[in-house]
Amino acid sequence: MTTTTLSRPASEAQKGFIIGLLAEREVSPALREEILAATTMTSSQATGHITALKGCPRKAPSGTAADLGVWEADGALYAVREFRTPSQELVRYARVARFAALDGTEVSYGDSAAHRVDWIRPEAKGVVYKLAGSGRKLTIPEIVALSIQFDSCFVCGRKLDVLASKERGIGPVCLAKIGGC
Ligand SMILES: [Zn+2]
Repeated sequence: MTTTTLSRPASEAQKGFIIGLLAEREVSPALREEILAATTMTSSQATGHITALKGCPRKAPSGTAADLGVWEADGALYAVREFRTPSQELVRYARVARFAALDGTEVSYGDSAAHRVDWIRPEAKGVVYKLAGSGRKLTIPEIVALSIQFDSCFVCGRKLDVLASKERGIGPVCLAKIGGC
């Protein structure tokens, strides 16, 4: 029979691959429905579905973003901040703290020579998700101590210019955001 090849059922490997792609890709409802509603699938249909799914964009990283505030992970400090997009969506992002001594040389977090802090964009992507999974969120007193030490709010990175904020170690807006009052 010459039709055997065309009508050969999809292999388990193909089905597994399709399920994996359905999970990781942004798939249109119509295509998802077409694939999931099929009671039988030939090998060539499976190949067609795999090609179509591979053409779909990958989903954004799943999971929960870390809370606003300051986080410690792998000996580094991160500030988790957020901004509002033009479509009014709140997006969280992370900045990593780079500490410098008085002469400008970079020193590690916790080094007593640390004099200044700069907040820079982390090289790795998806840091806000990794922090939520494996980072440690600093307590408010810890954030306040760092803010006073470096004379800048450790949540937003701004200089503490109001005396009350200097004394408290954190600006009122940031304090409210991270759950203080
Ligand atoms: Zn602030």
